[in-house]
Amino acid sequence: MLTQIKGLHHVTSMAGDARTNNAFFTEELGLRRVKKTVNFDAPDVYHLYYGDEIGTPGSVMTYFPFPHIAKGKFGAGEVGTTVFSVPEGALGYWRERLPGFGVKGLGEETVFGEERLKFLGPDGDSFALVEAKGDARAPYGAGAVPADQGIRGFQGASLRLRDGGATGELLRFMGYQEQDRQGDVTRFAIPGGNGADVIDLEVLPGAPLARLGAGSVHHIAFAVENRAAQLEVRKALMDTGYNVTPVIDRDYFWAIYFRTPGGVLFEVATNEPGFDRDEDSAHLGEALKLPTQHEWLRPQLEKTLQPLEG
Ligand code: ZN
Repeated sequence: MLTQIKGLHHVTSMAGDARTNNAFFTEELGLRRVKKTVNFDAPDVYHLYYGDEIGTPGSVMTYFPFPHIAKGKFGAGEVGTTVFSVPEGALGYWRERLPGFGVKGLGEETVFGEERLKFLGPDGDSFALVEAKGDARAPYGAGAVPADQGIRGFQGASLRLRDGGATGELLRFMGYQEQDRQGDVTRFAIPGGNGADVIDLEVLPGAPLARLGAGSVHHIAFAVENRAAQLEVRKALMDTGYNVTPVIDRDYFWAIYFRTPGGVLFEVATNEPGFDRDEDSAHLGEALKLPTQHEWLRPQLEKTLQPLEG
């Protein structure tokens, strides 16, 4: 069993309109945009990162906005709901706040004894807020939501699968422990994690397979401290039979990817070097940052990428 994985690092999803996406996460949810860059493989579209003040691993929601992309079809083989942790007593604030922005899909639910406020993102993305107990992480307090009500980061996410067996085994191998079961859902958590500790496996045997599109999660990334820990995880996964990519430099972290038995794309990302690697922490996310190999495209991209503000 691995001990290097410390919870989630980031969740990356697909969006339609970049400007709507930016407004939703910064003005409505009160996260900080910690990086404005482009997709490594499709540099004509943005890669936007939102999180706490410095984009601490476990708080980072990222998006690839493709202007004319079709909506995703939700189903099995993907991340279901992404759950954000808020301070105890904060749900009442959010119940009043979100309807004012016309947020859709609002509803209350109790999951493993925790009260949640669920809601949808602009592309139908499935989210929930939960008052997670014992979460000491500080919300971003200089944005649109006061610090005592703000999002601390992820509590975790759910995976929707036709069969949870092999993915449950994988999570145990990654260091997660089964905590509870409720109906079709099994809750796993990582002891001593970074706060973004929970993965719920939701088993839906007859569900149609998901189709990736706007509002779908593209992949979910788990955090390791550094590159040495990442290489240990990579070797252990390959020894177990997983097909893992080589280490890829993503400028703000190093990444490896592999497909899980249930069809979900997993990444393992390093906490180093972080989002202040190429801009001052006081101005994170303000300037357009380009990967070195795409820097030559800057004059064109500055004309074609849709302005996010103004
Ligand atoms: Zn990623």
